[in-house]
Amino acid sequence: MNAVLNDTRQQPLVSLRKLNKHYGDFTAVDNLSLDIPQGEFLTFLGSSGSGKSTTLSMLAGFETPSSGEILLGGQSLVRTPPHKRDIGMVFQRYSLFPHLSVRDNIGFPLAIRKLSSAEREKRVNAMLRLVQLEAFAERRPAQLSGGQQQRVAIARALVYEPRMLLMDEPLGALDKKLREELQDELRHLHRRLGLNIVYVTHDQEEAMRLSQRIAIFSHGRIVGLGTGRDLYERPPNAFVASFLGSSNFLAVTARSNAAAQFEGQVVGIRPEPGVTCGDTLQVMIRPEKAVALSLEDARDTPLPAGWNEISATVTELLFLGESQTCSVITAGGVALTVKALSSSAPVLVPGREVRVRWAIGAASVYRSWEEGDLKKG
Ligand code: ADP
Ligand code: MG
Repeated sequence: MNAVLNDTRQQPLVSLRKLNKHYGDFTAVDNLSLDIPQGEFLTFLGSSGSGKSTTLSMLAGFETPSSGEILLGGQSLVRTPPHKRDIGMVFQRYSLFPHLSVRDNIGFPLAIRKLSSAEREKRVNAMLRLVQLEAFAERRPAQLSGGQQQRVAIARALVYEPRMLLMDEPLGALDKKLREELQDELRHLHRRLGLNIVYVTHDQEEAMRLSQRIAIFSHGRIVGLGTGRDLYERPPNAFVASFLGSSNFLAVTARSNAAAQFEGQVVGIRPEPGVTCGDTLQVMIRPEKAVALSLEDARDTPLPAGWNEISATVTELLFLGESQTCSVITAGGVALTVKALSSSAPVLVPGREVRVRWAIGAASVYRSWEEGDLKKG
């Protein structure tokens, strides 16, 4: 796991080293270590209260770590006040100055940094172009839509050309369509400017759309780190598997490191180091990686090599447009969901027995529900 948590192929711009934040005896951030390479769009994803904002605030300098280090370009930041950190920040609430025009809101950070008025005007105009608000420069925030106000906030955070932009649920207050538009804009902005963005959200689709890497937070720790595809296709633990996307879990008993018993049937499992006979394991199968076949179809279609098959009974079929899900239950009462494209979904009937199949290699194997393996970091 260390290799995943501390990717050192590139010299990191930012390193968080064994960062802790305690409030009384409550631990909000728990011994967190993370390297952020130059130019990365990284997202902190996790449910409410998992420590995302606290970590971001320590990076911004609004919160002081209880212990640990924050390095920017190898230099300790812990004693540097927020305005000297070369970091721009955007929050969910736009926090624009209501009495200032769009132009003056964007120029504000330059005014307090005492740039000449000619230089100020040049940079503000460039920012107005960047966020496509030239026509709105003289308006007050109250005369703008939510999405436009958030664009002003982004322009204001970028105007003094920080090395890093930190964003805490910046699109949380906007409706879905506008949020998706701004997500696309942000992704393009990141690509054009090449700056680092650390983004906080509890919305996994938003994290997938935006980020190069995602850090999954739980109880103040990072329990998964990687591209959206890696985390989805090879979740490092059962928590990440269940948090990201849909998942089916089968509790099985290992017979060897390649086979296990499930409700009296033998199933193949992907070999994992350290698995021994008698261990209780969780086999995780994504709904779209499983297929359900009627008994007739199963009879006519031989089980491919490297695949498993178990018996179950259909409980419900759900047509979702592009896809169709089929819920089944095993004799032992384990509920599973199988998902197929509508165009190729087999015809199944509730109440009938089916065979559920999946490729051994497509299913992850976990020794427990614990996220603890990642704790030592
Ligand atoms: P997230 O942004 O992931 O929703 P936060 O980082 O805001 O979570 O909070 C993590 C935990 O720390 C929460 O349980 C929260 O209640 C607690 N917390 C945050 N700030 C304070 C504070 N100033 N005093 C006490 N507890 C706090
Ligand atoms: Mg938060």
